[in-house]
Amino acid sequence: MPWVDKAGCLGCGICVDECPTNTIFMVGGKAKVDMKNCIHCGVCHDVCPENVVKHDSELIPGDVEANITETIGFMNACAEYLGDEKEKQKCLIRMIKHFNKDKIVAEKTLEKLQTLKKG
Ligand code: SF4
Ligand code: SF4
Repeated sequence: MPWVDKAGCLGCGICVDECPTNTIFMVGGKAKVDMKNCIHCGVCHDVCPENVVKHDSELIPGDVEANITETIGFMNACAEYLGDEKEKQKCLIRMIKHFNKDKIVAEKTLEKLQTLKKG
């Protein structure tokens, strides 16, 4: 999914003009993708002269850190609300199950998507 690295965006508007679903807008002189109508055609990546329309894969390190921070927050909250430090480890096990479920959904989705490939 596309996203714009605002720091490098010149505000030239090329991506706005070229997006076939009109789902890129200028906000404060920088391009912003409204994901609601994005069809993942990739045009915005190709036309940006500054190469600042980025792919999801570049968000992976930040997403991992956010998941760790979220998990530690839940662990601490479980201990606090339930009044027992041992609840931290139980919460951690539940969060591991939660992320494992997301992994299985992704793996099974990828398996099915591979069957749609032709040629
Ligand atoms: S991928 Fe296509 S539809 Fe989505 S924002 Fe970029 S140009 Fe628009
Ligand atoms: S084409 Fe690139 S530099 Fe121009 S507005 Fe879009 S994201 Fe910014």
